[in-house]
Amino acid sequence: MAPSARLKASHRLHEFDLIRAIHRRYARPDPSLVRGIGDDAAVVAPPAGRELVLTTDLLVEGVHFDLNTAALDDVGYKAAIANLSDIAAMGARPEHVLVALAIPDSYSKGNILRLYRGLMAACRPYRVSLIGGDTSASPDAFFLSLTVTDTVPTGSALLRSGAKVGDLIYVIGTLGDSLAGLELLADRRTVAARLSRAHRRFLIARHRRPVAHCSFGQLLSRQRLASAAIDLSDGLSGDLRHLCEESGVGAEIQAGELPLSPALQAYAKTSRRDPTALALQGGEDYELLWTTAPAKQRRLQRLAARSGRRITCIGLIRPKTFGIQLRDAHDRLRRLPVTSYVHFSGASR
Ligand code: ADP
Ligand code: MG
Repeated sequence: MAPSARLKASHRLHEFDLIRAIHRRYARPDPSLVRGIGDDAAVVAPPAGRELVLTTDLLVEGVHFDLNTAALDDVGYKAAIANLSDIAAMGARPEHVLVALAIPDSYSKGNILRLYRGLMAACRPYRVSLIGGDTSASPDAFFLSLTVTDTVPTGSALLRSGAKVGDLIYVIGTLGDSLAGLELLADRRTVAARLSRAHRRFLIARHRRPVAHCSFGQLLSRQRLASAAIDLSDGLSGDLRHLCEESGVGAEIQAGELPLSPALQAYAKTSRRDPTALALQGGEDYELLWTTAPAKQRRLQRLAARSGRRITCIGLIRPKTFGIQLRDAHDRLRRLPVTSYVHFSGASR
């Protein structure tokens, strides 16, 4: 990075000292890596017969995280999961990560290494190796950008654009838990006190330590069981809309089929909230949503049973003119509003 943006001499951190510390802790031998941290750029040998899939995510203090409710290792962990979940939704295998940081003066080396601890803990199960990054000073907020490189067998990436009228809509896992966990972290006393410790812990863990469904995404793509897929990062109501727009279709969701954890149900009851609304609105669950042709349903169910995953059919792809509608418990249809997070709108919409 240009000298003017380097960490100032007065900065608590020393740029090269920090990079050395990161290198020492996290550089790992990797057969596909010709050159990792330490040169002007990383050199990677592309695997034969596979296509490269690239994703990047930017996290800004005050927008994506608040250090009053999240520790730095949580921030690093979730930054990695946000990327890995995008990769899962492409049916790709994650390979390498690059990390760019803009660090305010008040941060110590220990703070940054704590961020990397969380980040690398999230990467470890997927065997993603750290191959580079960039480090700069920041006059104000902390910025963190991750770039992850991935591969898929040629021609097998799962896209948002392949859903067909009549396809079934599936999700893996349960919805709304992360939002409930965040609300519990922000408001410990009133609702939390009336919730069992196990439920409280479950919801907070779902918020702080979500998982990305990389292996299931790869199974879906390898076995050609999904016509389209997206990860649930902003909330079902918004993310489903993206998939429908890209595919040029509408959708019907059955409110009664939305998979809810026992903890979320208890939370909704205790806080007098509508659990369906939490499931539709809640972001950061990082579950996958995909569509499957009815003829492949049996094979899909067998795959889920074999891999021990809970998957749920929550609706049906409809023609575009149908729009996106929710069928409630009384069998009434209503338009599904977008309640999930939208940037530059000032708030949820
Ligand atoms: P340049 O000045 O050419 O950008 P740097 O001094 O920024 O080089 O980077 C030196 C090496 O350290 C590179 O391999 C780069 O990828 C790596 N690196 C820099 N910052 C980070 C970081 N925050 N995390 C991981 N690797 C980093
Ligand atoms: Mg640099």
